Amino acid sequence: MKVDRDDLVSTLADLVRINSINPILVPGAPGETEIAGFVASSLRNAGLDAELIEPEAGRPSVLGRLQGGGGGRSLLLNAHMDTVGVEGMTNPFDGSVRDGRLYGRGAYDMKGSLAACLGAAKSLARSKVRLRGDLLIAAVADEEYGSLGTAAVVKNVRADAAIVTEPTSLRICRAHKGYAWIEVLVLGRAAHGSRFEEGIDANLRMGRFLSALEGLERELVGRPPHSLVGPPSLHAATLEGGTGLSTYAARSIVKIERRTIPGESSVSVMAELEALLTRLRAEDPTFRAEARLFFSREPFEVSAEADIVRALDAAASRVLGSAPAQVGDTPWMDSALLAGAGIETVVFGPHGAGAHAKEEWVDVESVVQTAEVLAETARVWCGVAP
Ligand SMILES: [Zn+2]
Repeated sequence: MKVDRDDLVSTLADLVRINSINPILVPGAPGETEIAGFVASSLRNAGLDAELIEPEAGRPSVLGRLQGGGGGRSLLLNAHMDTVGVEGMTNPFDGSVRDGRLYGRGAYDMKGSLAACLGAAKSLARSKVRLRGDLLIAAVADEEYGSLGTAAVVKNVRADAAIVTEPTSLRICRAHKGYAWIEVLVLGRAAHGSRFEEGIDANLRMGRFLSALEGLERELVGRPPHSLVGPPSLHAATLEGGTGLSTYAARSIVKIERRTIPGESSVSVMAELEALLTRLRAEDPTFRAEARLFFSREPFEVSAEADIVRALDAAASRVLGSAPAQVGDTPWMDSALLAGAGIETVVFGPHGAGAHAKEEWVDVESVVQTAEVLAETARVWCGVAP
């Protein structure tokens, strides 16, 4: 399935030139309204239906639909439209091409992928191929912060499979880590600094907890690694305790990020921490602390035998000339939300570098190849009417 290369590259440059910085990350930033309008009209011009899903004002996602003829499976292609900020970048909205690389904020993470989804849908809509199942394009808001967009899409849409098109250098990504954010509060007793017999120093007691936590951290990274994403880990991200020099600290708080691997959950992670606190309480009955989970995202894994993985593998092998590698990645992605909604999901996208960095680029040829692989996968997955 050939795609219109010139149209694809100019669409990608147009997308990079639209500022779509996430306004939660950079207050006052424009968000997704303008880019969603661009994506919707680009889909409509190619003959697709496009609707906006806007759970919060100013934060729209676009759902495009190439209606199938019936009797086939539906496929959803997902790409986020928002980007992180541009501090320290020169010409962040450049979109110019040098040596086969298109530069600018979001080129790699992930407007190259978004352009490839649009290119695949447009080429199928304009060809004589008539798919049996629906092809859905979800161009979503807010992936870089709270995933408002994909969360709203999974409430509104059913699909038989999904491809999250985060960049993978044309490899099939079958797993990524999740994470849990946990606060541990260690309690002491406030007292004047001169009255040691009255005060209980919450900061020193936090030291006991941190020392036990370091033991857990070493044990985690020493566990047998998951074959695609490696071992789990944790870090004590922030510490806060005490109110003044001449006062015994009444409270000491650590915020922990625990990175999870497939097979783990926020429940298993909290049980691990509770066991650690139970041990400290047994050693000293006056030790008082509590752990609270305040946010979590699940890890993701799909089997090599899953139908969508086989379909993508067959299509990519045909387009690229050989079977792509199957890999895992560490950062969390929207794939976990789609899989959590019961949609069989896999990750595949172009090559590039510089996500969230001062220089960001995507390899143009790999964007064209991604579009061809996606279009071919849609033919394999959705079926073609005679
Ligand atoms: Zn991304």
